Amino acid sequence: MESASAWTTLSQRLKIAIVGAGWAGLAAAITATQKGHQVTLLEASRFWGGRARSIKPSFEDHPTLDNGQHILIGAYQQTLSLMQTVGVNLEKVFWRRPLDLRYADGSGLSLPNKSFPMNLLQGIALNPSWRFVDKWQLLKTAWKWQRMRFECEDHLTVADLCQNMTPTVWQDLMEPLCVSALNTPAHEASGSVFLRIMKDALFGPVGSSDLLLPRLDLGDLFPHAAIKWLEKNGVSCHTGQRIESIVDLSNNSNPSFRWQLGDDQFDHLIIATPAWEAAHLLEAFNSAWAATAHQLKHETIATVYVQGPLDFKLPQSMLALRTAQGSPAQFAFDRGQIYTEAHTPGLLAFVVSANKLSKEDVTQQVLGQLRALLIQLGQATLLIDAFNVIQTVVEKRATFACTPNLKRPSAKPCQGITVCGDYVEGPYPATLEGAVISGIQAVP
Ligand SMILES: Cc1cc2nc3c(=O)[nH]c(=O)nc-3n(C[C@H](O)[C@H](O)[C@H](O)COP(=O)(O)OP(=O)(O)OC[C@H]3O[C@@H](n4cnc5c(N)ncnc54)[C@H](O)[C@@H]3O)c2cc1C
Repeated sequence: MESASAWTTLSQRLKIAIVGAGWAGLAAAITATQKGHQVTLLEASRFWGGRARSIKPSFEDHPTLDNGQHILIGAYQQTLSLMQTVGVNLEKVFWRRPLDLRYADGSGLSLPNKSFPMNLLQGIALNPSWRFVDKWQLLKTAWKWQRMRFECEDHLTVADLCQNMTPTVWQDLMEPLCVSALNTPAHEASGSVFLRIMKDALFGPVGSSDLLLPRLDLGDLFPHAAIKWLEKNGVSCHTGQRIESIVDLSNNSNPSFRWQLGDDQFDHLIIATPAWEAAHLLEAFNSAWAATAHQLKHETIATVYVQGPLDFKLPQSMLALRTAQGSPAQFAFDRGQIYTEAHTPGLLAFVVSANKLSKEDVTQQVLGQLRALLIQLGQATLLIDAFNVIQTVVEKRATFACTPNLKRPSAKPCQGITVCGDYVEGPYPATLEGAVISGIQAVP
């Protein structure tokens, strides 16, 4: 191993299996390798990256797509640092820009490229579409949150916290911010988790609220670089290895190892699967833990990929959309403008968060929303027939529903096994940063 002696901080080198290679499992594998353990990474599917992975398009001549459009923010410090560890050049792979949640008519919040609090004060004060009362109520509420140290009682929802804001700011800013950060409707979303995100993003160090839009598909953004780094450092990485059960060897006389997975034996296991799979694997060892994991409810995210004319461009690479009955998408991404790949001009991704529509309905409704958008952009002459849906990806259990008073499973269900994943107890909702933090912390 390249510099194992410099990394090793252990008196004992453990033989560790990591089950699941989403961003949490990859973070655990990198950290365990850095700590000098002997690591085996076992992934059930044929792809690395879990929910944040690339997918093969339905037709060969289409570019590679993602399982869902992902955005990172400047506050995702652990994720960004891990990406650098495996050699990812952040300048190259992200389109970084100050927070911009503007709609096609120019309304909405856009922050200038300044440090806090000037960026926030200026972004709010100079917003041309809000009245004085909108701005005043928003600033008053933000001050109140700061005085509360961004903490509140567990039973409060985001809607409770925003009671004093005007309907304009609520609809333009808070509702879309909440659904994009927590993937849970604002009337049902946890106020305390939302405040934590606000604190880290809007009130954190310079650049924390910046949007980082991936310029590569998700596989090339991190998972492929992570696997390359792991293999180079001696980690045994396997796809197509679904773990169905765990055998406890501690009752055998003089066992050399504590656990058996398939034909191999290990000192320690890190379970990095989604909650429901972890509950199934760990039921026999801690049924209360499994019950907590089972009770989590989930929210859907649908992504509708639409190919437009090659010279078509949205006014912004990421455009906020007004939602209403029949107009479900909250954001449209212009992959042609964002991505480095030469073959994506005119490719749009519409993101529909926390919505239970069927694949057919969501596709039809997004097309209707695009038709209305073209009229609003003064492009009514462009026929909707010039736009083709190339794929709709519906991830039914995209994230756990981040509701008030939610009990999340701990990272230590029993001796010799740790658990990681975006759903494990922690400060964040289901996000890449939450997954990565839990992966790092799961390593003994
Ligand atoms: C459409 C969509 C959009 C999103 N947008 C954003 C965003 O913009 N920003 C953001 O921060 N987050 C976003 N998220 C959330 C983010 O993708 C997740 O929080 C994160 O990927 C979870 O990572 P994980 O490693 O915890 O779990 P997963 O990615 O689910 O990884 C678990 C892995 O375990 C494997 N596995 C399961 N069972 C077994 C088994 N028995 N044996 C072996 N392997 C097994 C699975 O195949 C999978 O690879 C989005 C999610 C979706 C679905």
